[in-house]
Amino acid sequence: ASDATEHKFSAEVERLLELVVHSLYSDREIFLRELVANAADAMDKRRFEAQTDPALALPENAGIVITPLKSTRTLTVSDDGLGMTAEDLAQNLGTIARSGTRAFGEKLGEAKPEDRPNLIGQFGVGFYSAFMVADRVTVISRRAGTDEALKWESDGKGSYTISPAHRDQPGTDVILHMKADAEEFLDPWRLRELIRKWADHISWPVRLRETGQDGKVEEQTINAGTALWMRPKAEVTQEQYTEFYRHLARAFDTPYAVMRWHAEGTTEFTALLFIPGARPFDFLEQPNRESHIQLYVRRMFITDDAHLVPNWLRFVQGVVDTDDLPLNVSREMLQSTPVLARIRKAVTRRVVNEIKSLAKTGGEEFLQFWENFGLVIKEGLWEDAEYRSAIAEFALFRTTHDEGWTTLDGYISRMKPEQEAIYYLVGDNLQAMRASAQLEGFKARGIEVLLLTDPVDSFWPERMHSYKDKVFRSVAQVRSDLEKHKVDEAALPKGEAADMAKLLPALKEALGDSVKEVRDTDRLTDSAVVLTQEGGPDLAMQRLLRRSGQ
Ligand code: ADP
Repeated sequence: ASDATEHKFSAEVERLLELVVHSLYSDREIFLRELVANAADAMDKRRFEAQTDPALALPENAGIVITPLKSTRTLTVSDDGLGMTAEDLAQNLGTIARSGTRAFGEKLGEAKPEDRPNLIGQFGVGFYSAFMVADRVTVISRRAGTDEALKWESDGKGSYTISPAHRDQPGTDVILHMKADAEEFLDPWRLRELIRKWADHISWPVRLRETGQDGKVEEQTINAGTALWMRPKAEVTQEQYTEFYRHLARAFDTPYAVMRWHAEGTTEFTALLFIPGARPFDFLEQPNRESHIQLYVRRMFITDDAHLVPNWLRFVQGVVDTDDLPLNVSREMLQSTPVLARIRKAVTRRVVNEIKSLAKTGGEEFLQFWENFGLVIKEGLWEDAEYRSAIAEFALFRTTHDEGWTTLDGYISRMKPEQEAIYYLVGDNLQAMRASAQLEGFKARGIEVLLLTDPVDSFWPERMHSYKDKVFRSVAQVRSDLEKHKVDEAALPKGEAADMAKLLPALKEALGDSVKEVRDTDRLTDSAVVLTQEGGPDLAMQRLLRRSGQ
């Protein structure tokens, strides 16, 4: 049109566009996430401004509408947001205006081609990602509180035009004239999938408008739109939390614990986390030991791969949502940003505190929780120096003391006055272990032994070394200090003492090199012999290592 004015993109934008279009091809579906996020942001802004200016109030039915049209090969994303003035359009869609991005052009020049996608990720692809799928983009926008609409249009090659236009209501339409190879994004089925994947928890309804063969237009809300974690606590019922947990975890149980809080300070985030009430049936078979807590930025799903808690807490489900990261946070940035490191730290601390307080409450439910996930948590005794002692405070163990569970503090409270070590026996089968010859000497002296049956139990006691200054010591190791403890003679079977001076050399000769030494022991009361080991890894660990071919 003759009244259109032509503007040149700033040099940075031009280069950014080049790069976005050419280097992010495989990730190009994210354009939809970017446009929906912009639309939702504009609606958030309008809602905010309407608080002080009622003239800007949102319409009753406010939402984001996505309209694919095969006949014109266009995809339109419409919103009831704040809209943009001519100045806004030039500023926002013609330059890179955000603070800190001025250096972008220079960095881009310096970066090796293979590093550029990450660079773009860090600076935000945003609106320009539309040019990955469209060879022309038209934006029609009317700023709320004005009558005038404007049309911005560009083919993403150097310049754009701005001209007067018409729009019935305030808000913005972003119209993508799709490239021939991007027609998949006009397929309602594909769009539904993308909206569910990337925008399920946008707090505004995201509707898909379809035109049927008979020309009838139908609109359907696609996203769940709950963003449960953002709703006032008083408005959310326990049932809704449970439903959300089931949706998230693809589970059917009722969570044992729900944690929801908002953190403020250097890093702001909202978290809604769940401790499952049951162990997923394939949980232990999963080769991936990583946490799948979902990371959201401003209600937009980013990834479930951000390792928001350590591996030994990987059973925890939920969502963490922060405003302190850019929407386009790259994989590289996820690994290095101090924001995420701070969130991780805070989330982990909170979950550990929750487990601590659940342990204090105790009861059947905590025992059930421990039976479900104790074997995973104990991995932390092995690999998490920071939380090792915290875990040891609430960890539960089987013991020779009784048929139930004990804490380490419980064990220590029953230790003999002269006892220095916490004794343990590692094995596969609790029943068999209770009858083990390894325990005879300990039973005879009334010394309690922890019975450890999980795979990781072969590893952590040695690495942890001690708890509250009491050393962990395997009963399968010979230095078990039994000499110090008095045997209850009455408990011993009566019989002839063997002639040890003759028996021991005879046994050694018979066994040859398969044993290092045959000697007398005070560890047995009923059994004739027991296999033991001096120092070195515990027997069961040797077995485990052997099984894995080491
Ligand atoms: P970012 O959203 O990360 O700031 P974008 O390139 O996606 O970067 O968008 C640039 C700016 O354009 C936004 O900050 C916003 O001010 C404006 N904008 C984009 N889309 C819309 C929209 N649908 N409604 C109103 N403003 C928008």
